[in-house]
Amino acid sequence: MRTFFHPDQMRHAPRFFLMRGAVRPNYEVPERAGALLAALHRLGLPPAEPPPAPRAALETVHAPDYLDFLAGAAAAWDALPEHGPEVVANVHPTPEMLAQGGRAPQGVVGRAGWHMADAACPVGPGTFAAARAAAGCALAAAEAAAGRSAYALCRPPGHHAYAARAGGHCYLNNAALAVEALRRAGAARVATLDLDSHHGNGTQGIFWERGDVLTVSVHADPDHYYPWFVGHAEERGAGAGAGCNLNLPLPLGTGDAGWLAAIAQGLAAIRAFRAEALVVSLGFDASEHEPLAALRVTADGFARAGAAIRALGLPAAIVQEGGYNVGRIGALLERFLTGWGGA
Ligand SMILES: [Zn+2]
Repeated sequence: MRTFFHPDQMRHAPRFFLMRGAVRPNYEVPERAGALLAALHRLGLPPAEPPPAPRAALETVHAPDYLDFLAGAAAAWDALPEHGPEVVANVHPTPEMLAQGGRAPQGVVGRAGWHMADAACPVGPGTFAAARAAAGCALAAAEAAAGRSAYALCRPPGHHAYAARAGGHCYLNNAALAVEALRRAGAARVATLDLDSHHGNGTQGIFWERGDVLTVSVHADPDHYYPWFVGHAEERGAGAGAGCNLNLPLPLGTGDAGWLAAIAQGLAAIRAFRAEALVVSLGFDASEHEPLAALRVTADGFARAGAAIRALGLPAAIVQEGGYNVGRIGALLERFLTGWGGA
C-alpha cells in the first residue's frame, strides 16, 4: 500500500477552541500527524511527499470565492486593529437573512462568518498551505488507488468542509477531492464510507444531488453530538442524488458490535450501488480512548473494520479524518491498516 504525507501539513497550528462556553486549547494539533507518521514508519509504509493540490483540482469541489477567502484571510485579519492571533468567526448569516437576499460582505470579519460554519475552524498564517498539502495527499492517494489501495495522512481533516464553508477543524474536503480524482481516472460510480464518529456533513452536502456518488456515514446520533443539525437517517439526497446518501446514526456508547453491524450495512449499500471505487473517511474518534468516547470502539474493532472494507475488493483511497488522542491514534492506524492487509 502506498502512503502520502507532506511536512507543510504541520504549518497549521490552531489555538482557539470553544466548548460548552469555555475557551480551551484546540485539540487538532500537529502532533496528531506526528503520531500517525510514526505508525506508518513502524508498518514499513513510509509516505511519499506529493505536491500541494493545485488550484484547478481544488475547484473541482470548492467555490473560487471560498478558496480566495482561505488564501487571504490570515493577512486580512492581520491588518485589523486589535486583532486576535487567528481568524475566528463570531457572527453568521441566519436563515432569515439569507431568505431576504443576504449575501457575502467584503470585510474579513463578515466573510469569516459567511465561510465558516462554526468557531472550530480557526485560520492562521499556515492554515491554507497545510490544507492544500493535505488535499494534495488525498489526490495522490486517489491516483495511486487504481486497481489497489492507498492511504493519505490528511491533516487538517476534511469531511466537515462544504464546497464554500469550513467547519469542525476542516477547510478543504479531502475525501470529496479524492472522489473527483477517481471519477476523472475513469470510475463511473464512486462510494464514500465515513467511519469518523462525527457525521460527514460536508461530504454529504457536496454530493447531495449527485447520482454517481454514494455517500455513506456511520456516526454518533447528531441529536446529542456534532454536527448537531444533520446526519439523520431520513436524509437520503435530492434530485439525481435521491437515494444516494445513507446515514447510519448510532446511540452514544454503541461499542464494537453495533458499529461493525452499521459498517456492514454500509458495505451492502456500496455493493448494491455497484461502486467502481471507494473513498474511506477514516476517523479514530469512534475509539473508546477518545476524550468524548462517543462510540466506544476498541482497537480490535478498527482491525475488523479494515478487513471488512477491504473485502469489497474495490480500488480505495483511505483519507485520514479525526481522532484526537495523540497517544492512541498511531496504534489504531496500525491495527486498521494491518486488518486491511496493507502492511
Ligand atoms: Zn470526528
